[in-house]
Amino acid sequence: MSKAFFGLPEQVIFCKACVISNQRPSSTVEFKHVSGEAKATISFGEDGICDACRYNQLKQGSISWEERENELLAVLDRYRRTDGRYDVIVPGSGGKDSAFTAHVLKYKYGMNPLTVTWAPHKYTEIGWKNFENWMHVGGLDNILFTPNGRLHRHLTRLAFVNLLHPFQPFIVGQRIIGPAMARRFGVQLVMYGENQAEYGNKAQENFKPTMDRKFFSAGDPRSLVLGGVTIDDIIKEGTFKIADFAPYIPPSIEELDQGGVDVHYLGYYLKWDPQECYYYAVENTGFQANSERTEGTYSKYSSIDDRIDMFHYYTTLIKFGIGRATYDAAQEIRNEKITREEGVALVRKFDQEFPRKYFGEFLDYIGLSEAEFVATVDKFRSPHLWEKVDGEWRLRHQVS
Ligand SMILES: [Zn+2]
Repeated sequence: MSKAFFGLPEQVIFCKACVISNQRPSSTVEFKHVSGEAKATISFGEDGICDACRYNQLKQGSISWEERENELLAVLDRYRRTDGRYDVIVPGSGGKDSAFTAHVLKYKYGMNPLTVTWAPHKYTEIGWKNFENWMHVGGLDNILFTPNGRLHRHLTRLAFVNLLHPFQPFIVGQRIIGPAMARRFGVQLVMYGENQAEYGNKAQENFKPTMDRKFFSAGDPRSLVLGGVTIDDIIKEGTFKIADFAPYIPPSIEELDQGGVDVHYLGYYLKWDPQECYYYAVENTGFQANSERTEGTYSKYSSIDDRIDMFHYYTTLIKFGIGRATYDAAQEIRNEKITREEGVALVRKFDQEFPRKYFGEFLDYIGLSEAEFVATVDKFRSPHLWEKVDGEWRLRHQVS
């Protein structure tokens, strides 16, 4: 049997309840990727059920959502201000999840949120409209942070070529912007939307409401790794200076301790359902779904604001055999929107679709030719997942 890349499990197993496989890295690990640590993947029980489904069983069963909401009220009361200043930072794009989070905090729970956005690589038209509506219709304040585009493109290219993970610099920026803005505005509470446990981190991670601070580094910023190389390596190329990296350098744990900044997930306190967030956002913040489905999946309303977003999921298909339809279907099966059989059919139909629509723009953005793109992608196809049949790449294992 051929050796698995990235420390992935050699034997591919699909969850008996949803459609995810044991090749899925946990989200925390995706971030650890930054510091080059080894990958860990989603855990499966002996019954063949994945941790995300196991968490979902708890979510539908033994967790008391009334108690959790009371915990939320206690937390909010601790941070609530009555002098007109902001009292909570909500990082997000104005997509359904952050739209819901910010809006309920303000209009249901009486908080005074400031929403902060790390700009997408390239806004889609519908994404920009939804972003504007978040403020214009939703009645919220926002700061849009757009990083130096020359540097961000360079980092995205490095992350694609070195890690086949073009979204890694974006994820770094997006995670830092909330706590960093909280420090800046003297706000002590940062509230993200859905809990990462929903997507297959260890189920026990959902038994605490706060985000792990491990990803904040207190060390020398020059040794931070972005796109698979250190900031120092990039500076040595001669184009960028340390000052260019300001938005990628996280506040240290000490700084956050000093400022008393706490990072929570609303998904710990409220029973999270992405479809319900969507309906809520349509109703309250003028959110609109796309007119056509996103390439690589069947859905029309999740993560639609970035023109290169589909290449994130295309790279997960290459590295882990898990494309966007798998993520979407797994989540919808857990929330009982579709059956597993329907999910399997959707995965087999859409998961391997190549994102044609913005391919040219993506190549242009990262400055690669089509041949370079293909050569890079093929380097990351693990032989335990992919085989070449009659000149065509084919997945060895598909969900059934
Ligand atoms: Zn599962």
